[in-house]
Amino acid sequence: MSRSTAFRTHTCGELRLEHVGQTVTLSGWVQGTRDLGYILFLDLRDRYGLTQVSIKSDEQKAVYDQAKKLGREFVISVTGVVRERESKNPKMPTGEVEIAPDSVAILNPSDVPPFIIEEETDGGEDLRMKYRYLDLRRPNMARNMRLRSKAMQATREYLDGQDFLEIETPFFIKSTPEGARDFLVPSRMQPGNFYALPQSPQILKQLLMVAGMDRYFQIVKCFRDEDFRGDRQPEFTQIDCEMSFVNQTNVLDMFEGLAKHIFKKVIDVELPPFLRLPYSEAMAKYGTDKPDLRFDCPIVELNEAASGTDFGVFNGIIESDGLIAGIVATGCAEYSRKQLDALTEFVKQPHLGSTGLVYVKWNTDGSFKSSVDKFYSPEHLQKMMETAGAKQGDMLLIIADKLKKKTRKVLGELRLHMARQEGWIDPKKWSVFWVVDFPLFEEDEETGELTFAHHPFCMPREQDLEYLYSDPGRVVAQSYDMVMNGNEIVSGSVRVHRKDVQDKIFDILGLTAEEKESKFGFMLKAFEYGAPPHGGCAFGLDRFVMLLAGEKSIRDVMAFPKTAGGRDLMMEAPGSVDPAQLEDLGLIIKK
Ligand code: ASP
Repeated sequence: MSRSTAFRTHTCGELRLEHVGQTVTLSGWVQGTRDLGYILFLDLRDRYGLTQVSIKSDEQKAVYDQAKKLGREFVISVTGVVRERESKNPKMPTGEVEIAPDSVAILNPSDVPPFIIEEETDGGEDLRMKYRYLDLRRPNMARNMRLRSKAMQATREYLDGQDFLEIETPFFIKSTPEGARDFLVPSRMQPGNFYALPQSPQILKQLLMVAGMDRYFQIVKCFRDEDFRGDRQPEFTQIDCEMSFVNQTNVLDMFEGLAKHIFKKVIDVELPPFLRLPYSEAMAKYGTDKPDLRFDCPIVELNEAASGTDFGVFNGIIESDGLIAGIVATGCAEYSRKQLDALTEFVKQPHLGSTGLVYVKWNTDGSFKSSVDKFYSPEHLQKMMETAGAKQGDMLLIIADKLKKKTRKVLGELRLHMARQEGWIDPKKWSVFWVVDFPLFEEDEETGELTFAHHPFCMPREQDLEYLYSDPGRVVAQSYDMVMNGNEIVSGSVRVHRKDVQDKIFDILGLTAEEKESKFGFMLKAFEYGAPPHGGCAFGLDRFVMLLAGEKSIRDVMAFPKTAGGRDLMMEAPGSVDPAQLEDLGLIIKK
């Protein structure tokens, strides 16, 4: 493959010692110049890299005089001979060579950019977003875009190889629920009516299975109007997939294969076979459905080990069927008062809402120190430490709550917090596995009513079908997530393909007959014409690429992301519209 064009013989990332002596032409942006008087160095950048251009004032006076006038981000073309550098830069792939130009042509000047366009920038988040086209010139951003593109190509390669068809589905549709608000698009032709942008192509891909397409995928934008929660974007990209005539194992095998293929192709990492961890075990051992298993530190239940004293708080929790549990902080018996206070503050944060933290230290001299010394003999503490799997030099951190769920949640977060604080996570390690057997429904925290845990189209496990009619809260679904370094990367399920089951699930979710008909009538209708058993999943591409790139935010792997408030600062969207457009749409804006 050649990248040579009318403007260049090579790119700015290409030249090596083997090119020494050749006359080349490069085009790109001036990253910066350093004029030492007798010599001027210029760094020329394009998407592929940086090349040093060096101009001696005595040898090439005219070129030197012209180069002195070049500002940052000028677009130029340089022609000259490649020569070996006197002082090499081993950090740069092109660091052994430089160009001694015979001519420099300015293709386009540039205003002074508002921030430094290098690996490290002084531009704050807002400025980077406003001038995103400049931000994307930074080498790390260009690298991320390349990685993203590679991941997409690897996806197509693998799925095409497995006979998946890439089929586009429309954006102007009716709501497909994934638990968020819809973005609506008003119709001009049918005033007062609205399209909903897809939260995912879920229903459409299921209809493609009814249509006999057998294996479908699409790299597709999804739209969810949610309040700002963490690192989310109102529009994001999924690798959306569906297969017919499959059970859960078939789907897990197929997409484990896809994840491995992408890892291999994009970052040359071979992943071992994926663990398939039941949801209930993940919650009990790690307090979350997306544990980071790059380190162990499981939650240990301590109700029994903590019983048999006069400690009223623990006794009360044991009697009310609550949960006392802990995690072992390996090698942390030396923690100071101040460090312990900070941990107590951590578990008391409003979103965790714990009332306190109990610690037991097993000192290296064999003695014990704990916040419940008054109630526990050293022998009892030792028993507790041994139950937890702790050793001398370790500290046990204990949470107790009447709500088992809460004990686990707090410990799950504390586990992560300790791992980050103590450096238990090896950044070079990968932890990728499946969590399976999610509940079909969960209780809405505010109303206490049952709502779907994933979406309303997940098939209950065969053995749980009967509970749909007697005790829906206990139904386990054939649904699964792929978890990567503590992030949910894939979510999916075997689908309901029977009209009666789908109908029943809608009933449990509280849909009236009219609502069922108006929202999902077309889907239920399709199920009357021979829907095959089917299942699938969707990968969150942005987050996947973020992890592959070693970035902390999905914004860093999206070309034009929105800010936390859902704004595009470059285009200034969303913005107001012309009154005539509102008139056409039959809309009136309420003040
Ligand atoms: N539609 C689901 C989602 O967007 C994924 C799936 O079940 O395939 O999360």
